[in-house]
Amino acid sequence: MSAFAGKLLRIDLSQSTYREEEIPDQYYRQFISARGLGAKFLYDELKANTDPLGPENRLIMLIGVLGGTGLQGFSKWAVISKSPLTGTLFRSITGGNFGAWMKHAGYDLIIFEGKARIPTYVHIDKDGVHFHGAEDLLGLDPRQLQERLKESHGPHTESACIGLAGEKLVRYAVITSGERTASRGGMGTVMGSKNLKAVSINVPIRKIAPFDEATFKILIKKQISILKGHPRRKNMTTIGTPYITTVVDGLGILPVKNFQEGSIQTIREISGDELYALKRAKAGCHVCMTRCGGMRDVTEGPFKGSQIDGPEYESIYAFGPLLGLTDRQFVINANALCDYYGLDTISTGVCIAFAFELFEKGLISTADTDGLELGWGNQAAIFSLIEKIGNREGFGSILGEGVKEAAEQLGGQATDYAMHIKGLELPGYDPRGVKGYGLSMATSNIGGSHMYGRPRDELSGMVDPFTEKEKGASIAQVQKEQALEDSLIACTFGNSGLTAQMYAEFLTAATGIDAFSSTDNLLKIGERIICMERCFNVREGFRRKDDALPRRMISEPLRNAGHSTGQVVRDLDHLLDEYYDALGYTKDGIPTIERLKDLGLDEMVSNL
Ligand code: SF4
Repeated sequence: MSAFAGKLLRIDLSQSTYREEEIPDQYYRQFISARGLGAKFLYDELKANTDPLGPENRLIMLIGVLGGTGLQGFSKWAVISKSPLTGTLFRSITGGNFGAWMKHAGYDLIIFEGKARIPTYVHIDKDGVHFHGAEDLLGLDPRQLQERLKESHGPHTESACIGLAGEKLVRYAVITSGERTASRGGMGTVMGSKNLKAVSINVPIRKIAPFDEATFKILIKKQISILKGHPRRKNMTTIGTPYITTVVDGLGILPVKNFQEGSIQTIREISGDELYALKRAKAGCHVCMTRCGGMRDVTEGPFKGSQIDGPEYESIYAFGPLLGLTDRQFVINANALCDYYGLDTISTGVCIAFAFELFEKGLISTADTDGLELGWGNQAAIFSLIEKIGNREGFGSILGEGVKEAAEQLGGQATDYAMHIKGLELPGYDPRGVKGYGLSMATSNIGGSHMYGRPRDELSGMVDPFTEKEKGASIAQVQKEQALEDSLIACTFGNSGLTAQMYAEFLTAATGIDAFSSTDNLLKIGERIICMERCFNVREGFRRKDDALPRRMISEPLRNAGHSTGQVVRDLDHLLDEYYDALGYTKDGIPTIERLKDLGLDEMVSNL
């Protein structure tokens, strides 16, 4: 008995065939599950320079070993692929019920390969995998599509699907499941490139049997009692991630007008309290008592009259201050429009802010923007650009390539205003006011992500956010911890009060693998996963030069940012040296042979 399903499902879309495969026990021991296993399979199955939108790329959906059990906040699921936005390995994590349904179907992961000849959706039930034509589903938004699949296959059906942006290969299209999205890195674009409109599952609920059921039950009770009394859990349950907005503004790291400034005077209008006042109901993922989501009314656009689960902090940032706005209802409506098309809100907001700044600086004009006046705060223009991006029309087609590629196409000084790392548009934290976080984003193997390693000590002020010394080891450490959590999967917002020791207890009781009882071993697994991801990128040609920040971060002091005013990243080189030393990488950011061997990644030595 074990919480691992023990099998994967491989679906060849080119041939409309499928087969089950056993997962070697050693893989679990080395990588646990989810993000770790995904990195292992993607590395092994892709050759260098595989086209992310070609049939050889893999789209891998994974549930963690603790998913589908009674543990709270462990049923999110991950999507791993080579990103069409960054060219790196990518992992995107999302919620809803779909992950648990994969486990009920008997799989730890599903690998999609090839490309369907015609638009297709795949349905999984107790009799196996069924391939269906999806021509009549094209153009449906994710919400309508999921309803249609429930009508066809039963109300118990859970699905993961793409919207119009995924069909049109906008490079930052999302995969939607329930009200949640695997948002970042263009995982929906990869799905669209495979002519795969949706995956649906309707199977009987299967009891996930942990190895030591009695101990596991005690641990669930222990976790629930910790969560009940934990102040962070209470905050997440009531206000959710919008509580971050005023905190980030207070630190002077809230990106305003495409990262030109670090705070905004009218911040109270989009504070957690104001967003809480608009909350109509709680929302959340499978088996989670934190339930950090919130349903809010939509008053404009295709979802007018309905409600969405959101906005989260990152969407508030992307359709608020980043665009010079603090109109909370506009943020909700813009979020809903992105959901309708299946667009990543962060990438969409950053691409639009980039265009607004180019317009402000006279680098583009109405001749480039299909006649739109891109003055800061022009809500109608923002709405119009979201529609153009989602439909890949006119100027929206250029922005739909992602900010890095759009800047290269527009040429001239445009690249100076493209806020990305390795092609991934930046989240809502200005690296100039939190240098460790900046280092984490610069070195992230998936590009500019806020979820690759989050230095809570720096954000809470327990360590000096401005110093550029002695940050490398702590950033390596938080990245290892995040990799471990993503491999369970422990939700970042739902894991209040949990420690590595508790993860060890959960894993040991769930799997019976004694090696998981050592927290040192678990953190080593976290490091192995980061290293595996870096090896993937090194094979693609990524080096130290790619662990970079946008020019603005190293040359323009932060303005209007409270106590962070005047901050700039002065010595990224020193920070990188410290980080590489901490992880045993060369000065060029490549894992050394000794480190690879120590991590049990001997097969990487010859590959690199
Ligand atoms: S805390 Fe929020 S995101 Fe995390 S599992 Fe619960 S509902 Fe989902």
